[in-house]
Amino acid sequence: MNSTPSNIVIAIDGPAASGKSTLALILAARLGFLYFDTGVMYRAVTLSALDELKGVEDEGLVTALAERIMIDVQPPSKDDGRTMDVLVDGADVTWKIRKPRIDRNVSVVSAYGGVRTAMTEQQRRIGSRGNVVMVGRDIGTVVFPHATYKIYLDASAEERARRRYTERIGRGEEASYDQILADIKYRDGIDSSREIAPLVAAEDAFIINTDGKTIEQVVGESLRILNIKPKNGG
Ligand code: C5P
Repeated sequence: MNSTPSNIVIAIDGPAASGKSTLALILAARLGFLYFDTGVMYRAVTLSALDELKGVEDEGLVTALAERIMIDVQPPSKDDGRTMDVLVDGADVTWKIRKPRIDRNVSVVSAYGGVRTAMTEQQRRIGSRGNVVMVGRDIGTVVFPHATYKIYLDASAEERARRRYTERIGRGEEASYDQILADIKYRDGIDSSREIAPLVAAEDAFIINTDGKTIEQVVGESLRILNIKPKNGG
């Protein structure tokens, strides 16, 4: 893809809870870009598989489901902490896809080749509209290998588990730090070792380790990397 000033793709990849979404939301707001978190698509397929197929083990059935369901992402319709609406066949699944049962199963679903093909196609279609901050695992390597800017965020598993724990408690949900840490390590393992589009930094990505850094520091580092004048005055 050719990137012109009006067709900028900022790819932000990294492991679970590395702060990608928070960074991307802030950058998108400052630059006046579209925010698109691609993880919701894999989460939506996982939710549908658990509800309709009662499990995620049958690759053929899950792939057929991924090709059939209509996943849509819309600006937030409610002021309940959501950053966007996620719809599956018109039904609002925004919070359902954030539950631990989805966390535990999503990496299996996202390792299926047919599921990735279907989701990658959708992501390219949306991302090609341009001026977008896209968040995921393989945006800079597979979905948009010619993205204008590529940032890879990293942080230790312990720091990421602490952040997820604080987020859940903040939403009034029950949470166990040890369980979250175990889930994160489990997902890291599958995401990094899968054959198709594994989680790996693109060779030309800027790598930012966020351990011990505030979000403001990470935003500042990213803006220096992007060297784009913030639309809203920074
Ligand atoms: O980013 P988030 O934690 O919501 O992503 C959920 C899961 O979706 C990840 O653990 C990963 O397995 C998968 N994913 C992916 N490729 C992307 C985005 C997410 O494989 N571009």
